[in-house]
Amino acid sequence: MSDTRSMPAVLPFSVDTWTTETASKAQFLTHAHKDHTVGISQNARHMYCTATTLHLLRIKFPELAAAIDRGDVQVTVLRDPGDSAIGDTLHLWSAGACGGYPYSVTPLFLANHCAGAVMLLFESEVWGSILHTGDCRVTSRQLPDLAAALDELLGEGPHLGLLCLDVTAGGGQDGADTLVCGWAQGSCAVIMLTGALPQL
Ligand SMILES: [Zn+2]
Repeated sequence: MSDTRSMPAVLPFSVDTWTTETASKAQFLTHAHKDHTVGISQNARHMYCTATTLHLLRIKFPELAAAIDRGDVQVTVLRDPGDSAIGDTLHLWSAGACGGYPYSVTPLFLANHCAGAVMLLFESEVWGSILHTGDCRVTSRQLPDLAAALDELLGEGPHLGLLCLDVTAGGGQDGADTLVCGWAQGSCAVIMLTGALPQL
């Protein structure tokens, strides 16, 4: 796994990154594996994750659990709808020097990774739509489900602006190849958060 999870710094949120720089942002966590939670006890301020991930964090990080119980760390739970791959959309506000703007995030329960893992679809009129996959094992059998979820949320067609692709060592490059070649098809920009770009 890479420990580089670079998203554009201008964005008002972070994903799986816990530094002093992200402490002032909305901090999203896709799942509770240790390489995604480096620095979380020190730098979590307002985090967003699923109930399962929060449960695992409380076990793994007693200091973080105590900070949450004291109210020093705020947590917003991304609810698992159970019977759908698409979770509830949260509407957030980016407060910035330019006057701020609204954006939203929708969790997608399609990561096929560990318990509580989600993909995250961010949208705004400022930077369009961004899908962060978290670690995922996307197979060709799952592509129609992902395509259907994105069509439902974004409308049919290649409307995704940026794909931030993170793949597990287990799911590996095959998953990346499947996602990029089988679905994205070059219709959006891609940031590989681990490994190298697959050959298209
Ligand atoms: Zn993982």
